[in-house]
Amino acid sequence: MKRSSVAITACKTYDRQELYAAIGKAFEAAGLTDVSDKRILLKPNILSDAVPEKNITTHPEVLRAVIRYLVSKGAASILVGDSPGIQGSFFVPKNSKIAEVCEQEHVPWIDFAKDPVFTVIPFTFGRRLPLPKILDSVDLIISVAKMKTHQLMYMTGSVKNLFGMVPGLHKSPCHMMYPTREAFARLIAGLYVAVKPSFAILDAVVSMEGAGPASGLPHHTGLIMASSDCTALDVAQSIVMGYDPMTIPITKELHERRLTAWRKPTDIEYPLLHANDLIIEDYQRIKIQRKTRMLSALIGPVFTKFIKLRHQRKEPKPIFDRTLCIGCNRCVKICPGKALVLDEQHKIVVDYRSCIRCYCCHEVCPAHAITIEQKESE
Ligand code: SF4
Ligand code: SF4
Repeated sequence: MKRSSVAITACKTYDRQELYAAIGKAFEAAGLTDVSDKRILLKPNILSDAVPEKNITTHPEVLRAVIRYLVSKGAASILVGDSPGIQGSFFVPKNSKIAEVCEQEHVPWIDFAKDPVFTVIPFTFGRRLPLPKILDSVDLIISVAKMKTHQLMYMTGSVKNLFGMVPGLHKSPCHMMYPTREAFARLIAGLYVAVKPSFAILDAVVSMEGAGPASGLPHHTGLIMASSDCTALDVAQSIVMGYDPMTIPITKELHERRLTAWRKPTDIEYPLLHANDLIIEDYQRIKIQRKTRMLSALIGPVFTKFIKLRHQRKEPKPIFDRTLCIGCNRCVKICPGKALVLDEQHKIVVDYRSCIRCYCCHEVCPAHAITIEQKESE
């Protein structure tokens, strides 16, 4: 069996020349397959389409460097797509400058919400989710992810980035159906199998720490990482962030289902820099919470309400600051628990009895009016 390897190289800034050199080096060392005459879909992490300086999205210059590298290697056509949670059809990522890069590099932006194909997702008891029609007509899918903390899943990287394949507001009901971390990790593992990404590249030049994936702080990590094994790249990312890789629910789920080419994280090879030499001890991580009971995780899709009520007592609460709330309604729109309303003053009101602690509200709030309760790990 081919051994998993992760190529990690230094890249201190988003300067174009530095990025081209780093990305080319990472692609070569990670052993990108022959892309000549291939039709390739790139999936950046756009989340809430914020400006690049907010550090929420894959940096547009990283995307540009990836496009140019693939063109130089003879790719027949390149397409770029994503579908942020709050967006509907006809979304174009202007703020993040992803649309600008697509236009300048003459690659089409793909609207994932247009004519999606309902597809059975493995490990979900036959549940069907809409996935982009384009998946059936591309030769390779490359996850172009961003290194960030994530309130629910502790970190988001190459595999979690695939959740953006599910169009817009189709995503939030998934949290209701798979309300625990373990159940949600099972859904993401199923998506990983359904989507079959061929390669991943990680923007870790400036990463996000603290209250990720949308309200955290920048951390200059100065790295580009690449792998033909997204699960191995997630392991490397978690090590650099200071986590034990097997405490990351998605990695654990993929490993337990034998969907990883590696048997132990130590089996992964590093042809350039080694993840163990890059551990950032003071990275502001999301605290690992106690695992939801096995029975709860397994029966989640069937007894959602029962799980929700048990689950909510253990997990940190989202806290709403009404003085910062600008009444935009985004959190109300995305909340799968229907726990939020705006009052007559256009300020947010929460009913914690209906809150399943999915933190979708926290991801979409543009006013930093939502924080997550700090709880010690258990
Ligand atoms: S209030 Fe926030 S954390 Fe609670 S269910 Fe709604 S979106 Fe999820
Ligand atoms: S997303 Fe933030 S600003 Fe908008 S209504 Fe909710 S709490 Fe208020």
